[in-house]
Amino acid sequence: MTTAPDRRDRVVLLNPGPVNVHDRVRAAIASPDECHREPEAQELLVTVADKIVEVCGGGDSHTAVLLTGSGTAALEMVVSSVVPADGRFLVLDNGHYGERLLRIARVHGIDVDHLEFGWANPITPEAVDRFLGENPGVTHVGMVHHETSTGMLNPLRELGDVVARHGRSLIVDAISSLGAEELDVVADHVDWCVGTANKCLEGLPGISFVCAPRERFAALEPLPARTFYFDLFAGYRAQVLDRSPQFTPALQVLRALDTALDLTLEEGVAARGRRYADRAREIREGLEQRGIELLLPPHQRAASITNAHLAGGLTYDELHDGLKERGYVIYATQAKSAGVFRVANMGQLTAADIAGFFAAFDDVLSKHETVKEEW
Ligand SMILES: *Cc1c(COP(=O)(O)O)cnc(C)c1O
Repeated sequence: MTTAPDRRDRVVLLNPGPVNVHDRVRAAIASPDECHREPEAQELLVTVADKIVEVCGGGDSHTAVLLTGSGTAALEMVVSSVVPADGRFLVLDNGHYGERLLRIARVHGIDVDHLEFGWANPITPEAVDRFLGENPGVTHVGMVHHETSTGMLNPLRELGDVVARHGRSLIVDAISSLGAEELDVVADHVDWCVGTANKCLEGLPGISFVCAPRERFAALEPLPARTFYFDLFAGYRAQVLDRSPQFTPALQVLRALDTALDLTLEEGVAARGRRYADRAREIREGLEQRGIELLLPPHQRAASITNAHLAGGLTYDELHDGLKERGYVIYATQAKSAGVFRVANMGQLTAADIAGFFAAFDDVLSKHETVKEEW
């Protein structure tokens, strides 16, 4: 008998999370059965929160509230908990996930301003500066760091500066950037940083989190909750102050995240970013060598995803299904960028995985050409 994991049915995930994880992460979910009210589970929550704070660039003044749920759950928890009834929320929108922030706020009846830049257009700090100058009633600003729908990395450092200069609070969806892109909650003036386990942190799906200064969490106490489950202050009080989670967390997924965070900190975010950039370069060069046009100019691209235009009369479904049969999963785009497919490179991927992807890609294309000729 071998203890090595069976890799024969490994599917290479080129979707933007969930990702292929390290064997140590997969092994961590096979931890002993346990109760979340016992000291070892409470210790796990503290450890995981501390490691998240470290990845976010926070110090002792920061903590993280963990939530069992996907990234959107933590976004909803922040947006619905921190914008007071008499507050106003400005959403910076240049893609699908910017729109999502807006939709979350509207569901909760929050007063919103929508600064729309358009899909695949950059967010300009000057426009935000002007808007905040003209709208003193805006209390909170929401933005997406890596707009995964187009693959654009938004200028967090510059935008954080602008928002801080105007004295407003900044909520950042760092769900697809944290762990691989440069982000420092202190230097970037991020008041509320939202992340998830199963993207660039390379954990398993099921846990998301909010990292913020402790005093920000504490200051939420007088605000009435808009929801019961997603009440951020209640989560903070239970998990951080009383050291016992409010509700039953996905403990095994948390154990996997704990290991994934160890691996993230051992590798270092900068080194992981370079590893991702290597995979992205292989993908981009491979696509361009095949005459496939990429969506964004190079300086706007995040390190973990590439959006490319479909070519050669091949539909997305034909490409996706052909690749899937060969063990590679790519990703569609949202409706607003039809004719584009996405190849992500988050997770434990090697140069050999990308080479294998292109072998499969060429095979799918050549079969398609043959069919067309016969036709
Ligand atoms: C993946 C993603 C989300 C959240 O997706 P979930 O399916 O809820 O985990 C939110 N924002 C961005 C930018 C993302 O890439």
